[in-house]
Amino acid sequence: MTRVAAAIEPKSTPPDRLIVTIDGPAGTGKSSVAASLAERLGLELLDTGAMYRAATALALDHAVPLDNERAVADLAERASLRFAWNASPPMLTAFAADITHRLREADVTASVSVVAAHPAVRTAMVESQRRIGREHPRLLSEGRDQGSVVFPDADVKFYLDAEPRIRAERRAAQLREAGVRADVDAVEVQLRERDRLDASRAVSPLRCPDDAICVDTTSLEEDAVVDLLEHHVRAQLADPHRTEPSTPAH
Ligand code: C5P
Repeated sequence: MTRVAAAIEPKSTPPDRLIVTIDGPAGTGKSSVAASLAERLGLELLDTGAMYRAATALALDHAVPLDNERAVADLAERASLRFAWNASPPMLTAFAADITHRLREADVTASVSVVAAHPAVRTAMVESQRRIGREHPRLLSEGRDQGSVVFPDADVKFYLDAEPRIRAERRAAQLREAGVRADVDAVEVQLRERDRLDASRAVSPLRCPDDAICVDTTSLEEDAVVDLLEHHVRAQLADPHRTEPSTPAH
């Protein structure tokens, strides 16, 4: 496929600071798109969902009741969640031990939105994410509130969405690839419930920031989405004063 951006590749050296955010619900292809885009643009990748998943895994594994907001937040803070940036994708540690293997397990996925709705947990995560942004100023940050709350002054903000059935099919295919049995109907029910909790919580609900480029990935291949996003970022770098469309790009 022809890369859209080739014709407008900036000739200048890359900027020291470039923050790109990608938000959106589960199953939009966000994580894979974020990884490819970060690689193409030479940015470090921050998976903020992994941080909420780690807080959830810690609470489950330390038998802390998930509805005990203060105890869950304290545990996450004591665990000193840290990414090891020399690994690709960066490995996440809690209490100085790798916790990556736990993050995608079904019990964590089923409970993460409950933990992510706690304001005390969000405050701690937002603070860490902003610190990471200062320490890694060429960053692609992926999540639910990265453009709206964590990096309101990001250079380019994207919001990916897709029809729930398509998102469920993609998620089920990913699970099957990982050797996990997955029924599309069941995945769709779980995904819709996670959307409902993420979009209705009081603090930082999932929403498309006004100044984000919204992309509906329902009928787009992953490569086409990456091409489109890369095109927008490079156009923004070539002309920082350009205003982005507020209506969906697709
Ligand atoms: O992206 P991922 O599916 O790993 O995110 C898991 C969950 O973490 C989301 O469903 C959401 O509840 C929470 N999350 C969040 N804010 C973020 C990233 C993830 O609330 N920035």
